[in-house]
Amino acid sequence: MSSQTKTYTGGCHCGAIRYSVDLDLSPETNASKCNCSMCLKTNRLSVQVPHPDSQFKLLSPTALSSVPEYQFGSKAQHYHFCDKCGIHVFAYGSYVWEGQEVKNWSINAVTLDPDQGVDLRAFKMGYWDGKEGNWEAGMGEKPYPGGSY
Ligand SMILES: [Zn+2]
Repeated sequence: MSSQTKTYTGGCHCGAIRYSVDLDLSPETNASKCNCSMCLKTNRLSVQVPHPDSQFKLLSPTALSSVPEYQFGSKAQHYHFCDKCGIHVFAYGSYVWEGQEVKNWSINAVTLDPDQGVDLRAFKMGYWDGKEGNWEAGMGEKPYPGGSY
């Protein structure tokens, strides 16, 4: 863990969902957007949490099973959102990469509480071509067709 790692808090708009996360969110933090049907409509600003068991704490509600979730397609991903205010807060799941199952966990970084010294504008943005499932292409410097900044 980097020396810049701090504990940040965040949540949905109405406060029903609250979390804390230990991350290095200094300038040049790697963040991504994706042009898949879900990322596009939520305009999610994804920041990966590599070790959610130790880095991510759900503060409210107390059980993950109490946070509404949405799944679609292969249902490999769980998109958690607030059923009161509608904000998408975090997502997790797994995918297969070169024959191996990889687990992923990300926060929607725009749900971080303001005034914690995080400058979202300084994030180093990358863009995925999830619409075409073209993960091999890697992150581009601008959105793939169908995506948005
Ligand atoms: Zn809410």
